[in-house]
Amino acid sequence: MKRRALLRQVAAVAGTGAALAVLGALAPAAATPPRPTLPPLAGKRALVLGAGVAGLVCALELHRAGAEVLVLEAAPRIGGRSLTLRAGDTLHEADGPEQRVGFTQDPAFYFNAGPARIPHHHQGILGYCRELAVPLEVLVNENRAARVQGHPLGQVKADLRGVVAELALKALGTGLLDAPVTPAETERLRAMLRHFGALDRQGRYRGTSRAGWAEAPGMTEGRRRAPLPLATLADPALWASADFAEGVNYAATMLAPVGGMDRIVAALAAALPPFAIRLGVPVTGLDPAQGLARLADGRTERGDIVISALPARHLAELPGLSAERRATLAAIPQAPSAKLALEAPRFWEAQGLYGGIAWLPESTVTQAWYPSHGFHAPRGILLGAYIWEEEKALRFAALAPAERAALALSELSALHPELAGQASAPVSVAWNRMPWARSAWAEWAPGTREAALPALTAPEGRLLLAGDWLSALPGWQEGAVASAWGALARVPG
Ligand SMILES: Cc1cc2nc3c(=O)[nH]c(=O)nc-3n(C[C@H](O)[C@H](O)[C@H](O)COP(=O)(O)OP(=O)(O)OC[C@H]3O[C@@H](n4cnc5c(N)ncnc54)[C@H](O)[C@@H]3O)c2cc1C
Repeated sequence: MKRRALLRQVAAVAGTGAALAVLGALAPAAATPPRPTLPPLAGKRALVLGAGVAGLVCALELHRAGAEVLVLEAAPRIGGRSLTLRAGDTLHEADGPEQRVGFTQDPAFYFNAGPARIPHHHQGILGYCRELAVPLEVLVNENRAARVQGHPLGQVKADLRGVVAELALKALGTGLLDAPVTPAETERLRAMLRHFGALDRQGRYRGTSRAGWAEAPGMTEGRRRAPLPLATLADPALWASADFAEGVNYAATMLAPVGGMDRIVAALAAALPPFAIRLGVPVTGLDPAQGLARLADGRTERGDIVISALPARHLAELPGLSAERRATLAAIPQAPSAKLALEAPRFWEAQGLYGGIAWLPESTVTQAWYPSHGFHAPRGILLGAYIWEEEKALRFAALAPAERAALALSELSALHPELAGQASAPVSVAWNRMPWARSAWAEWAPGTREAALPALTAPEGRLLLAGDWLSALPGWQEGAVASAWGALARVPG
């Protein structure tokens, strides 16, 4: 089952706490191993296959250890899934028409079509930002003014707390609670619940300014929003979106490179010697024992050390790898995901929407992200779709770019009628159709990665493997770094 679909189901059946426990189990906060110290590698030649985050981290560390490094990349650009689109860029999905990005030429107008945010505890990737001087800014991942299923997030959260606190207060001292509670604890719990839920003296929830205002205070006192009805609140799908920022990898404030996520891969590449990266040369075969990589242009390259940082699916197709390893790689489940961005006047800021995510779980587009930078400029780039659910992502991916844009505008107009006639330059990426990715991320079934890891991390001849799919954080750049460090730790002296 897909990770995020699994979380939704767990949340729906067992509640948010259980979903967070699953999230914690799937994405441990301290997954990144320590950065390895490499043996001196002067006089050795290293081949790195793939110029994504994992490949570039491997290349940089091998270079720092003194090896002569050559990175072989199939695509005409570096970065892999770290893809940032700007005015004039072109995009080719398999069997799709060329999309040309029509945004206004402006450094603040970019679309992070792959990774867009970094959690504060992803210190592997953040460490490279620090040492390579990649400027970061805050990305607002949760905005209480943004809407969840049409309701302000702040109201959903405050009303749910109020309702739950009121119920718990009623149950306290009635013998309905299983846990033994002493009289002193009961009093402390009562006081805590009153504060937690913003309850009145009678222990009733009647609304709170935490939920935001129906009429904002100014010269008048303002008027609170009336609490949402219990029938509206008692919807697991509503809470599954509303509590998103409780996830350890999805805090309310996150980090992003100023100017686009691809600033990180650009900085990694810039720290390599000239001509260390060769673009547009797909690797078509391997001879691990000899350290050979066969290229689509008919040439071969040889290395004393070879690190593949290719996606699992692509690696699985390369002749020369052991049949057992290829079968394991081919069997790793992969998830589709799609994003769409468009340019529009920043009408949302006059509605208090400075960054953050609107959730539309019943729609195909699922999410809309307001930009966290460039505030009060006349126009900006709105992320108009970010789709994780497999069925929705595949359906969206099957549409032509113009059909995706029409669908997104129609679904988003329920939230923002202002978009009609004002949105321009839509561009979309369906990752299962991107030729050198063919998926958004790996989605191992629980326990299977750990079982496959010893065989996958063992050297095969001169070949070692890296790639976020190998880590406990697939779908995160931190996972790519962790996998790179894992491979580097196995480089012989
Ligand atoms: C929609 C989406 C959202 C994401 N959001 C986030 C986020 O917010 N934060 C975050 O940290 N991470 C996020 N990620 C995950 C992040 O993009 C990845 O974890 C990371 O970029 C993976 O790096 P990698 O080097 O392991 O793989 P890749 O980036 O896939 O690199 C593999 C490289 O191999 C190349 N290649 C493939 N086949 C061949 C071949 N035969 N020969 C030569 N080269 C080849 C590819 O072109 C590519 O450059 C997201 C990903 C997606 C798709």
